[in-house]
Amino acid sequence: MSVNQQAHAGPPYGQPQPGYQGYQQPAYGGQPLPGVPQSQYGAYNGPMPGYQQPVPPQGYFPSLGFPSKGSPVSLNSDTSSLAPNFIGSLRAPPTSGAPPPASGASLPSGHLAYSQFGHGDVQNGIPASAAPMQRPPASQPFLPGSAPTPVSQTSTFQQYGPPPAGVQQLSNHMAGMTLGSATAAAPPPAGLGYGPPTSVPPVSGSFSATASGLYTPYTASQGPPPTSVSQGLPLAQPPFPGQPVSTQRLPAQVPGFAPPPSSTGIGPSSYPPATGAPRPPTMPGPPLPGQTVAGPPASQPNHVSSPPPPSAMSGPHPAPPVSGLHGPPPPTHPPQPGYQMQQNGSFGQVRGPQPNYGGAYPGTPNYGSQPGPPPPPKRLDPDSIPSPQLNELPPQQKPRHRIDPDAIPSPIQVIEDDRSNRGSEPFVTGVRGQVPPLVTTNFLVRDQGNASPRYIRCTSYNIPCTSDMAKQSQVPLAAVIKPLATLPPEETLPYLVDHGESGPVRCNRCKAYMCPFMQFIEGGRRFQCCFCSCVTEVPPHYFQHLDHTGKRVDFYDRPELSLGSYEFLATVDYCKNNKFPSPPAFIFMIDVSYNAVKSGLVRLICEELKSLLDYLPREGNMEESAIRVGFVTYNKVLHFYNVKSSLAQPQMMVVSDVADMFVPLLDGFLVNVNESRTVIASLLDQIPEMFADTRETETVFAPVIQAGLEALKAAECAGKLFIFHTSLPIAEAPGKLKNRDDKKLINTDKEKTLFQPQTSFYNNLAKDCVAQGCCVDLFLFPNQYLDVATLGVVTHQTGGSIYKYAYFQLETDQDRFLNDLRRDVQKEVGFDAVMRVRTSTGIRATDFFGAFYMSNTTDVEMAGLDCDKTITVEFKHDDKLSEDSGALLQCALLYTSCAGQRRLRIHNLSLNCCTQLADLYRNCETDTLINYLAKYAYRGVLSSPVKTVRDALINQCAQILACYRKNCASPSSAGQLILPECMKLLPVYLNCVLKSDVLQPGLEVTTDDRAYIRQLVTSMDVAETNVFFYPRLLPLTKADVDSDSLPAAIRNSEERLSKGDIYLLENGLNIFVWVGVNVQQGLIQNLFGVSSFSQISNALSTLPVLENPFSKKVRSIIDMLQVQRSRYMKLIIVKQEDKLEMLFKHFLVEDKSLSGGASYVDFLCHMHKEIRQLLS
Ligand SMILES: [Zn+2]
Repeated sequence: MSVNQQAHAGPPYGQPQPGYQGYQQPAYGGQPLPGVPQSQYGAYNGPMPGYQQPVPPQGYFPSLGFPSKGSPVSLNSDTSSLAPNFIGSLRAPPTSGAPPPASGASLPSGHLAYSQFGHGDVQNGIPASAAPMQRPPASQPFLPGSAPTPVSQTSTFQQYGPPPAGVQQLSNHMAGMTLGSATAAAPPPAGLGYGPPTSVPPVSGSFSATASGLYTPYTASQGPPPTSVSQGLPLAQPPFPGQPVSTQRLPAQVPGFAPPPSSTGIGPSSYPPATGAPRPPTMPGPPLPGQTVAGPPASQPNHVSSPPPPSAMSGPHPAPPVSGLHGPPPPTHPPQPGYQMQQNGSFGQVRGPQPNYGGAYPGTPNYGSQPGPPPPPKRLDPDSIPSPQLNELPPQQKPRHRIDPDAIPSPIQVIEDDRSNRGSEPFVTGVRGQVPPLVTTNFLVRDQGNASPRYIRCTSYNIPCTSDMAKQSQVPLAAVIKPLATLPPEETLPYLVDHGESGPVRCNRCKAYMCPFMQFIEGGRRFQCCFCSCVTEVPPHYFQHLDHTGKRVDFYDRPELSLGSYEFLATVDYCKNNKFPSPPAFIFMIDVSYNAVKSGLVRLICEELKSLLDYLPREGNMEESAIRVGFVTYNKVLHFYNVKSSLAQPQMMVVSDVADMFVPLLDGFLVNVNESRTVIASLLDQIPEMFADTRETETVFAPVIQAGLEALKAAECAGKLFIFHTSLPIAEAPGKLKNRDDKKLINTDKEKTLFQPQTSFYNNLAKDCVAQGCCVDLFLFPNQYLDVATLGVVTHQTGGSIYKYAYFQLETDQDRFLNDLRRDVQKEVGFDAVMRVRTSTGIRATDFFGAFYMSNTTDVEMAGLDCDKTITVEFKHDDKLSEDSGALLQCALLYTSCAGQRRLRIHNLSLNCCTQLADLYRNCETDTLINYLAKYAYRGVLSSPVKTVRDALINQCAQILACYRKNCASPSSAGQLILPECMKLLPVYLNCVLKSDVLQPGLEVTTDDRAYIRQLVTSMDVAETNVFFYPRLLPLTKADVDSDSLPAAIRNSEERLSKGDIYLLENGLNIFVWVGVNVQQGLIQNLFGVSSFSQISNALSTLPVLENPFSKKVRSIIDMLQVQRSRYMKLIIVKQEDKLEMLFKHFLVEDKSLSGGASYVDFLCHMHKEIRQLLS
C-alpha cells in the first residue's frame, strides 16, 4: 500500500456525455465532513468478536493469582459498595470550573476549548484566562452532551484502604512484583539528591508551535509603508563621504548606498534591469479571480561597508584582537552589580547599557555609548577582525573599531516591516511563485489554487532553471510541509471530495492526483498531466464540458480543480489488505516504579485521565469518539487491565516474562470510554493505591512498546501509545540500556555517539511499529540521565512526540505537564500515514527531514502524523526547468482519520523558475532557509563532528552570499558587505543556529537536553524554529495595559535591557520574566505581590493572580503566548544579578555566549571575511 498505489480502474471510457448530470456531487461546500459513508465502516460495538484468546505462553499469570484465567478477581474486593457512589459522583454536574455552555452553538463550530473541561480541585492554579490555550482539533465540535465531569476525587481515594487481599495474593504469586509490604529495604529514591529545578535549571520545556502562532494580535499599520522596504545598513562609512548615514527605513533606492538598481548591468555578471517588475503570471492553470499580483519587491541590497583596508583605522595586517570576545572563557566570578558581564562590547570600548535606554529601535537616540551628536561613521575592517573560531588571543586589547548594533540588519525591524506591509491584506494563493508574508506576520490566507503557506513554505519561490545555477548559488531548494496544519477559524478546512467507488482521478503514468494544474484537452475528454505530461482519459463519470477558455464549466464546484488543498475519500484500494481500517486506539502506559509513585505523578495521571478521556478526538459532529482506550502499568513487569463494560471491577493481568512480550487479554483490553466508564474510573482510582508502597525502582521500556504494538496488532487497528516514563530502563529485558553519558566526549570526534542510539534494537522495534500504525508518544520525567537519544528512537520514527519534565515536581510542573497531555491527547492525528511528494519534470524530492520512517526512497511513512509535525523535503534538479512552465509540487498524504476513515489530503504548490540568479535571491525566505539548515545540521551531528557541521554551515552560507555579491549586486568596494534584501537576516539567524545547544552546548546543558532538542527541531515548522533560534523579547513595563496588543519586541541583547524594567523572553520552550534591579517597588508589588526586589521568589512557576491592571496585563500576555505554542512553556523568574541570570543570558542571542558562541556583530564580520575570501 502506498500513495502511489494504482487506483481502482474505472470503467472503460465511453462517449463523452454532454450534460451529464448523474455525477454524484462531492460532499463539500459547507461542512467538510458530511457525506461520510459511515456505513462503510461497521459501527464499533465493543471488542472485535473474532478475537481468540491465545493460549498463554509461559510467564503468563492469569489474573490475581487465580489459576483459571476465566475467573479473574476484582482488583479491589471491597469496593463493590462504593462503586455506585462513585458512579454517582462521576455523573454529577460540574462543581467547579466554568459550566458547560448551554449549547454547542455558543462556541465556534469546530472548537472545543479545554476550558470547558472542569478543572477538579487537584488541578490548581490554572486561571480561567489560561483555558483557551487548548487548541483542539478543528474537526472536533464541542458537544455539550459530554460535559465535564469533575469528580470529588478526594473522597474516592479516602475510601480505599490498603491494597486488597487479592492484590497481595497476586503479588506473592508474581515474581518481581512488589506490592504492599515487600521485604526489601527501600532504596534511596533516585534523584532526590538532586537540587531543585531552580538550581539545575533544565531546559525541559517542550515545543512545537502551530499555525496558531501566526495570529498574534499586534498593533499594525502605521499607514502603508512602501511595498519594498530596504533597511539601510549604515554599518560603515557611506561610500560617499559627507553623506549622512541614515538608519531609517529607506525606499528601494538609497542614494549613498549601493547604486540604484537602474544602474545595473554593471555587475560582474548579470543583474537584469527592472527586475523588480512583477512577472505576469504564467500559471498553466486557469486564471483566478481576485488574484493580487504581488510582485517581488524591488530588492535593495543591504550594504554593510567598511573602509578600504589601508585607512587610518587599520593596516592590512591582522589587527590585534578586539575586546575579549574570542579569548579564554570569561572569569567565573559572580556577576557584579551593573553590567560587568559585558557580552557585546566587541568593537571599541566595552559599552555598558545606558540606564536611560529609551527605545528598542534603530534611530532611538538614547542608546549606546555615543549619546552625543551624530556619531562618526562606523568602520568595519574585516581584515582586522579575528574569526570567531579563533581562541588564542592576548588578553590585552584596545578599542579599534566600532559597529553600531543598530546599524546592522535587525530582526525586529524586518518583522515589523513585514507586518506593516503584508499584514493587512489576505494572502491570496492564485499567483505562481508568490512569496508569502513572514511567519511572524498575522495574515489570512485565501486558497485560490495553491496550498496555503500554513501547509507548505519553501526556501525559495523561484527555482533556478538549471542544476548548475542551483549549485552556483548553494541556496538549498526545500519545502517545509505541515500536511495537517491547524487553520485559524476564519479559514476553511480542506473540503472532502468523494468520488465514490472509483476513487480520485489520477494521471495514468505518474499517479499524480487531479489538481488545478492539470490541463483538459479534446473538449474535456482527456487531460494532460502537469507533472509528467502524460495524457490520460477522463473517466466518464468525471467528464465535463470546457468553456471558451478551455476551463471546465464545473471548475468552481470542484475543490480539486480550483483549490490548492483538499481531501479525497480513499477507496478500499488505499487500505491495508484491501480492508477498511478500524478506528484507532489509545493505550495509556504508566510507569509505576518508585520515583513515579513517590513524586505523585501516577496519581496525577490517573486523576487527569478520568476526565480527559471524555475529550478524545472526534470526527465532525460525531457524538462520541470512535477511539478505544486501554491501560497498562509497568515497572519491571507489565500489568494489563481488563476494563470490559460488563465487569463490576477492573481485572489485572501481569506479564513478567518481558523477554517475549504478548498481550494476555484481548476482549476487554481496548474499550469504548462511555461503555466502560465505571470500570475505567474504578481502575484509575485504584492504580495509585495499588502501587503506593512500591519499592521497585527498576523499569523496562522496550517491552512496554512491544506490548502496545501487540495489542494494536491483535485489535487490527492503528493507534497511539502514551508512555509515561521516569528512568533509564536497566531492568533485565530486551532493549535494556546502560548509562553511557559522557560529557568528556563533547568537542571530540566521538561526540556524535551521544546523539546515536546505543543499540539498534529500537530501530527494529520502530519499523514494526510503523508497519502496524503504532505511534508512540513519550512523556519523560527524569531525575537523571535516561538516554533520550535511545528512548526517543521509536517515538521519532513513528511520528510521535516527546515531552520532557526533568526533576518533575508536582507543585511547579503539573500545570505544564497536564496542559501538554491534554493537548497531545486531543490534537488531530492522522494514523498509518504515507506521504509522497511529486514534482514536475526537472526536479525531484531527494532528501527528507522529520519524524518518520522510510523503507524506500520516496514514501515517507508515519504511524501517526499530528497537526504540529512538519516534514521537510529537499529537491534537486534532474533536468532543466523552464521559466514558462515553472515547477510544481504535489504532496499527497494518505492517512486514517480518528474515526477510522481512510483519506488522502492533497496540497499543490506552483513555483516560478528563473534563468537569472537575481530572481532566485529576490524570492527566498530566510526563515524557511534557517529551518532547513538547522535540520540539516542537526542530522549531521549524528555522523560528523559538531565542528565539521558548524564549519559546513558557515561555508554554505558564505557561498550563498558570495554568489549574490558576485552575480547580483552592483559593483562596489570590496570592503562592503552586501546582503540580499530577502537574506539580510541570514547571518544573525545562522549564528543563532550555530550557537544552539546541539551545535555548541552551554555548560549547564545535559546530554539528554541536546538529544531532546535535536529531535524537537527536526519536526518544527518555520514559526517554531524562528522563535526558537531568535527568541521573542518583550519589555513588559512598556506594555499598554489598556490595549490587547503586545509591547513591541526588542532585540535579544543585554544592551537592550534596562535595570528599571521587566522583560519577558519566550522561545517556545520557556518563558523567562527578567526583573531589573532598579524596578520600581510599585511594579514589583503589582506583579509579584511582594514589597521588594529581594523578596521576589524565583521558584515561582506561575505569577500570582493579583487584581491590578499590570498584573492582569502581564498574565494575559503570557496566556496569549502559551496559546500560540503547541506546548506549554515553562515559566522561569529571573532576577537581575541572580545566578539564574546566566541561563537567561544564554538566550540573548545577539550577544557573545558563555559557551563560546560569537556575538552577532562578530559573526557578521566573520561572514564578511569568509565572503571576501571566496570572492578573491
Ligand atoms: Zn503524470
